[in-house]
Amino acid sequence: MLPQVKQTLRDVRLYHSAKELETVIEFAKNNDLSFLDFLDELLKFETTCRRKNKIKRHEKFANFPCIKTIDEFDFRFQTSVSKKDINEWLTFSWLDNRENKILMGAPGVGKTHLALGIGFSAVHKGYRVLFKSMQTLMEDMIIADRGGEFNSYLKKLHLFDLIIIDELGYLPLANACGNLFFQFINHCYENKSLMITSNKMCSEWDTFFGDRTIAAAILDRLLHHSESIYLDGDSYRLKNIDKKNK
Ligand code: ADP
Ligand code: MG
Repeated sequence: MLPQVKQTLRDVRLYHSAKELETVIEFAKNNDLSFLDFLDELLKFETTCRRKNKIKRHEKFANFPCIKTIDEFDFRFQTSVSKKDINEWLTFSWLDNRENKILMGAPGVGKTHLALGIGFSAVHKGYRVLFKSMQTLMEDMIIADRGGEFNSYLKKLHLFDLIIIDELGYLPLANACGNLFFQFINHCYENKSLMITSNKMCSEWDTFFGDRTIAAAILDRLLHHSESIYLDGDSYRLKNIDKKNK
């Protein structure tokens, strides 16, 4: 009987239940579960395993360069933003409303850490996230454009609820790239959320995009439905070096 039930579970794609059926039966016996409670236990087991696997897949697709969490972020060192503000961001209503977040500040103030931590939490809440450095994003878009696949590249981004673009502004863009980036921003506008980190203030971004008209069009779309924060203070990277030198 057991192999037959297992096969039926596999036929209806309840693979986790099929794999662990004996364990759940044993649990039901030991705890005198009713038929209904047993079924509930089995289905709960299936959904929990599926959720865990989905998160693992989403973590892989997100392409985080490393895992940083908000719990590891020291809000006593970085006081420009409060834990309360970030906890509000972690409700992700802004993702549901397709709003953008922009994190600005000098190197080492924690922009990438916050972006990674928020991205990681979003994945664990079931959102699909993609993390890209500005440089890699531009390289991908240029390659897609040269191969005549720019539109399908944009379509692929539809998979994600949040795209994090790290380090906008470190390297200036060539003119044609400004146009590609504009098309990307236009595609995402009111369609999905972007989180951008930059060492430059938004007001300085036009020098980075080369063309003022394109820069204005990009900023117009990006800043509409967006919240920006400026992270002030010293570099966390130099924190211990400074202490040693004192
Ligand atoms: P930025 O992107 O602003 O240049 P990062 O986020 O990459 O800076 O931070 C540099 C390093 O310092 C990272 O290892 C990061 O985890 C750490 N860091 C920065 N700010 C904090 C903070 N407030 N609490 C804990 N670690 C921090
Ligand atoms: Mg950074």
